Amino acid sequence: MNQEVPFYTVSHYIHGKTHTVTGEEKHAITHPATGKIIGETYLANTKTLDAAVNSAKKAFSEWADTPPLKRARILFHFKELLQKNKASLAALVSREHGKTLDDAAGSIDRGIELIEFMCSAPYLLRGTFSENAGSHIDCYTIRQPLGICAGISPFNFPVMVPLWMMIPAIACGNTFILKPSEQDPSAPLKLAELLTEAGLPEGVINIINGDKSIVEQVLCHPDIKAVTAVASTPVAKHIYKTAIANGKRSHTFGGAKNHCIVMPDADLDIAADAIAGAAFGAAGERCMAISAVVAVGDTTADKLIEKITQKIEQLHIGPGDKPNVDMGPLISRTHREKVMNYIELGIQEGAQLVVDGRKTVFPEHPEGFFLGASLFDKVQPHMRIYQEEIFGPVLCLIRAANFEEGLALINHHIYGNGTAIFTQNGETARTFANKVQAGMVGINIPIPVPVTFHPFGGWKSSLFGDLGMHGDQSIQFYTQTKTVTVKWPHTSHANSSYIMPND
Ligand code: NAD
Repeated sequence: MNQEVPFYTVSHYIHGKTHTVTGEEKHAITHPATGKIIGETYLANTKTLDAAVNSAKKAFSEWADTPPLKRARILFHFKELLQKNKASLAALVSREHGKTLDDAAGSIDRGIELIEFMCSAPYLLRGTFSENAGSHIDCYTIRQPLGICAGISPFNFPVMVPLWMMIPAIACGNTFILKPSEQDPSAPLKLAELLTEAGLPEGVINIINGDKSIVEQVLCHPDIKAVTAVASTPVAKHIYKTAIANGKRSHTFGGAKNHCIVMPDADLDIAADAIAGAAFGAAGERCMAISAVVAVGDTTADKLIEKITQKIEQLHIGPGDKPNVDMGPLISRTHREKVMNYIELGIQEGAQLVVDGRKTVFPEHPEGFFLGASLFDKVQPHMRIYQEEIFGPVLCLIRAANFEEGLALINHHIYGNGTAIFTQNGETARTFANKVQAGMVGINIPIPVPVTFHPFGGWKSSLFGDLGMHGDQSIQFYTQTKTVTVKWPHTSHANSSYIMPND
């Protein structure tokens, strides 16, 4: 069992090896299923950040000059190593995060998918060429790396999200510094070790562990050219604003309240199955989790409440590394308390608590951060449990009279990450996809995380910046264009001209 692992200390990873600094503060790592402290991680100080920046600086010019095809070969080898080590990585994720082994493995697969796509970087990075842009003049545009880039990642996907940041960055020829969540830092460190094993030169990837104070220093560091972050919305907004104020390129991905509209014509058994999985998988700690169901019509609402309640009754809750578990514990005691406070708030606000997850008991794990699934009916748009991200296994059902009312709810919400509709009507589905104000849309698909050759990213307070992750947008984010205008033979038309060149 995971909690029997001896107490451990997680270091940083700089210039191709683990890096420990004396005198740094440490942060405790807890095992969510038992609530016990099982390890600790160093919290980087200025010296550590400087060491990481110097390493990334040293590595940059050679890596930028490495042909993209050679970079891709290293990525390909890394992908094979990840596949080989998937089970042990999933165990690391599950131990510190609490999610089930299958769920952890699934998220690693989504990271591997991005590596597979980024192996095509030589193709994605090719430029454009205009022959005879003017008389005897050709013009071409190339994509070049930015330099040292940094990533700040959240606790909920300790492998997938770091991969989504650092793999496109290095595929484009940048060097990278990752600051993972201090709550589950072991898996990202393992990624760096595997990258070194795959042949990545020292310094191309560096990992510094730490908390918000080192993030502030990253945001001000003059040698760091770009910052990607995935975080709660206030943090994502702060990181974005500070990074761009300091002249860096940035895009940051924030929180969510993902709605799912269920139309009266939907197959309600399929919809209820899908919604329960999307709301309570990973204990609701997913930025793409469905946390608000909009049932169109009272009959749809009543049936959905009944079916989702049945699904909750069948949920197997337990330690993530045990077989046949659907939902593990929450990440921390503090977060569990926060989610429970929201349940209490919902009652006070007048929503009808149909299933109270606080009543689910876990006698085998009295100190674990477990919480049962909760279901609220008759949630109103003005309620805080509807307006705010709870990030736990709490599902709000809102009753709408018709499709237009449901759509308006989504479009007025401050978040716009993912959204879904369940219907059998093609026209309704098409209108929804066309009019809804969210970045990722599912039609009869509850968690529409796009495949990695399409962009990932929300709208409104779910994304700060212009570009998403994945696909062409990652390539755009991690490169700058340079346009070269060439004249051969260079001796013709050599006279000075003082007018704007136009032929
Ligand atoms: P968080 O905001 O607490 O922390 C995220 C990262 O930012 C961590 O590395 C943390 O150390 C750092 N950080 C925390 N406070 C900071 C501050 N004041 N200044 C600078 N850095 C700070 O988020 P979390 O609890 O780790 O992750 C959950 C959140 O992430 C949820 O809100 C979830 O919706 C969001 N998320 C969004 C996406 C997306 O793609 N939109 C994906 C995953 C998670």
